[in-house]
Amino acid sequence: MTKLLPAKHLLSIAMVSAFLAVVLVALPDGDSEDKNSISLEANFEVIDQSQLMLQDLRQLAPTANTAAQNALFSTNDINVDKAYKDTTDINTDKAVPVTAVTTTTIHDIPAPKALVQKSAPPTFKEQTVEVKPGDSLSKLLSAKGISAQDIHKVSVADTKQKTLLQMRPGQTLQFTTNNASGELSSLTIVLNRLDSVTFDRVGDEFNRKETSRTPEVTQAYKEAEINDSLFVDGLKSGIDQSLLIELANIFGWDIDFALDIRKGDSLSVLYEEQLLDGEKIGNGNIIAAQFINNGRTYQAIRYSTEKGSSYYSPDGLAMRKAFIRTPVDFTRISSKFNPNRLHPVFKTTMPHRGVDYAAASGTPVKAAGDGKISFAGKQNGYGNVVIIDHGRGYQTLYAHLRGFAKGTKRGARVQQGKVIAYVGQTGWATGPHLHYEFRINGTHKNPITVKLPNDEPMPKNDLKNFLPYAKQVVATLANSHSPEFAQKLASLNKN
Ligand SMILES: [Zn+2]
Repeated sequence: MTKLLPAKHLLSIAMVSAFLAVVLVALPDGDSEDKNSISLEANFEVIDQSQLMLQDLRQLAPTANTAAQNALFSTNDINVDKAYKDTTDINTDKAVPVTAVTTTTIHDIPAPKALVQKSAPPTFKEQTVEVKPGDSLSKLLSAKGISAQDIHKVSVADTKQKTLLQMRPGQTLQFTTNNASGELSSLTIVLNRLDSVTFDRVGDEFNRKETSRTPEVTQAYKEAEINDSLFVDGLKSGIDQSLLIELANIFGWDIDFALDIRKGDSLSVLYEEQLLDGEKIGNGNIIAAQFINNGRTYQAIRYSTEKGSSYYSPDGLAMRKAFIRTPVDFTRISSKFNPNRLHPVFKTTMPHRGVDYAAASGTPVKAAGDGKISFAGKQNGYGNVVIIDHGRGYQTLYAHLRGFAKGTKRGARVQQGKVIAYVGQTGWATGPHLHYEFRINGTHKNPITVKLPNDEPMPKNDLKNFLPYAKQVVATLANSHSPEFAQKLASLNKN
């Protein structure tokens, strides 16, 4: 029969058939659904995928119904273009039955939502993966079949905080996917035992929510006899290293733990332990501690004032001194304080009014005490130099610096321990070192032996509350001592 028809009729029939095929295929009602091809159904399961299919149409029929198409596509966002590139192979196949239509009106294609809503209530699958070295969000999730567009969407919700970008080995990702669509419905990154961040799908984007658990805090007590070193004996007695470091910091102003330790020294400490579901997860603050060194008792009590938390003796004196003894981690003292020294460069008698601490170029130099920078710049022989005015007639000077830390400039306030500059050999120096001077009312003192003043005492208002509290804490500490420990302390006191 086809033989009898002219070519142009054949063409018309072909076009009409094609049109009918599309209408049948695309009609959203129940009757036509049975006749739909499987591939189309698959296409309409997910809104994104159908958008991609429309995208295919737009690309394949660029000249037809441009205005109508633009109207149709105007709600598409940029993500679709991106997603299209990411998943080209899959979606091109699925779009094939429809692309045969070419110039047929596109707005006959039904809104895919209608089809999505028809499917049964969604079921979800939960999965957990641990972050390994070298892993990234996209690597982990795409390996689990999460689409590139979902990974992109969840990242968008985290743009500011970048938690997902900074994921670390040992953390875990928990995520839920829709069984029917494979779409990501929620993602949680468990940062540690206390903190996690959850991304929940709401429509076409993700909401970010941080969750933190608060551990239960209890008081704990430990004691140790120190015969060898704070660390060796402390660890033997079951005191965590982090606590020992803190104890060394608290008592380090008065006791040189490398040189002053004597056999029979003793340590006791009252501190906070953090529990989660009844299990210890870490230590909190040291509440009070006592160190008996060479027969002398040092006690420290943590207390918070307006200025922050710090450690005080039971009578309210700061444990901290106003200055740290050495403002740099040095390898050796290359030149001592010496008023009659022969200068290494000029070979004439020139007093050395500071201490030279040899250290690698670039080693951080710390402010010895709180104060205000009165000079930061170049000064002939000193090279790059910083001078800090600490008030009460105290001044410190740091010379031969390679460079200054950010914020180190004249007039800037600095706190004890803040990095102000870096070791170098600018000016008259034969090797990288820090030349450090300590001046009281304009007179140079030997920084190694000068008696360092105590830090500012506790404000009077705070002292009123502190004294009774300190008494109570010291009593708690004493009551915690084991009988043997208490006996030993008693015999120490007798001697
Ligand atoms: Zn020097």
